[in-house]
Amino acid sequence: MRGFTQPLTQGAGHPDKQSLRGRIVVARDLTPSDIIMLKHQGIAAFVTEYGGPLSHTAILARSLGIPAILGIRHASQLLQQDEMLVVDGSQGIVLADPTGPILQHFHQRISQREAREAREAELRRGIDLPAVTLDGTQISLLANIELPDDIVTTLENRADGVGLFRTEFLYMNRTAPPEEEEQLDAYLDAVRGLQGRLLTIRTFDLGVDKTLEGNGIGYLPAANPALGLRAVRLCLKEPGLFLPQLRAILRASAEGPVRLMIPMLSSLAEVNEVLTIIEQTKQALQKEGLAFDPEIPIGGMIEIPAAAISAQAFARKLDFLSIGTNDLIQYTLAVDRMDEEVNYLFDPLHPAVLKLIALTISAAKQNNIPVSMCGEMAGDPLFTRLLLGMGLTELSMQPGALLESREVVRNSHLPELSKRAASFIERLDHEAPLALFEELFS
Ligand code: PEP
Ligand code: MG
Repeated sequence: MRGFTQPLTQGAGHPDKQSLRGRIVVARDLTPSDIIMLKHQGIAAFVTEYGGPLSHTAILARSLGIPAILGIRHASQLLQQDEMLVVDGSQGIVLADPTGPILQHFHQRISQREAREAREAELRRGIDLPAVTLDGTQISLLANIELPDDIVTTLENRADGVGLFRTEFLYMNRTAPPEEEEQLDAYLDAVRGLQGRLLTIRTFDLGVDKTLEGNGIGYLPAANPALGLRAVRLCLKEPGLFLPQLRAILRASAEGPVRLMIPMLSSLAEVNEVLTIIEQTKQALQKEGLAFDPEIPIGGMIEIPAAAISAQAFARKLDFLSIGTNDLIQYTLAVDRMDEEVNYLFDPLHPAVLKLIALTISAAKQNNIPVSMCGEMAGDPLFTRLLLGMGLTELSMQPGALLESREVVRNSHLPELSKRAASFIERLDHEAPLALFEELFS
């Protein structure tokens, strides 16, 4: 699987130094910071030699609506400057110098896209209908956002709030990390923009493709960054980076419903350490007379198999859990989410992945705390019914996926889906998961 669902586009390749507006950028690799810059420059699409659909670069492109294909080996040698290109992100196809019949085919594909847009317009007519299942269960549909500006599409698509605010954008394309006040301004923009809806702010997950270069933090690239000094590990090692962010998040909670979420927790010791630091930070703010919500929910992401297996212990300490399937799948199956060569192994329906998800949901329920999912799996309408059947009632996804999910939710009958999910999990070890999934959920 090379592409990911994005519209089709057509234009010339390779960056032009003058202007990138309307151009397709072809590069060996692009980081999330590059994508933010290129978005501002108005690129039409991009193609990279490295990466896959679950990389942060791909997730960001999807969220910003930039058609893209990652993992086309030798693309920069094969594609020429100023050549006419067709990029079909939904199929993972890039074509150079297309001839008459091929162009005709892609014009047809553009018509199909228009048909999809018409379907979206139809879905949009039901936009204000509640996300309630046929049996009357309210499902919370939340947005994943990358930038404060994403609040606009979050509201347009009637999200109930934000289930994941990735804060790494604050650290990109600059020479020093952002100070507390700058972070506070960004978080307050989001809190105020949401007008009383929930905002889940995740502390930074820097250290993998969202690198620290240029931030003055001074770590050399790790040999295996996904297993290295990443996310909460970096936070705990560098209080000088972590504390301003914690303070800013806590202070933002004075103005609206904010939840604080910690990524990449792997042990109870880390949970305890983080909770102690948060407590100390609250005390410091109190002494300084700075307002915050003393009851701010503190949650943890379950994205490492060890965390899912320890979910009971985590759930006793935390106020909510959120399942990050992008990393959970990567670490469970030992499949680098950024490596196009092994992307075909990235399987949300792998029995081991589903068992870890089930363990997490059950731990949260037993401890009476909310549990959500915020990995890409949560926004794929293909999986919505299975996830509802497994007991999730809170799903967080890129804003563009909300309309379709709402419709699936409204056509779902939870008691029936729970039965099917139970049977699915029970039969998983004995039957082919995909065929079983199709039998029960399509
Ligand atoms: C995840 O791992 O599923 C997740 C939501 O976090 P990210 O994609 O930012 O690593
Ligand atoms: Mg993650």
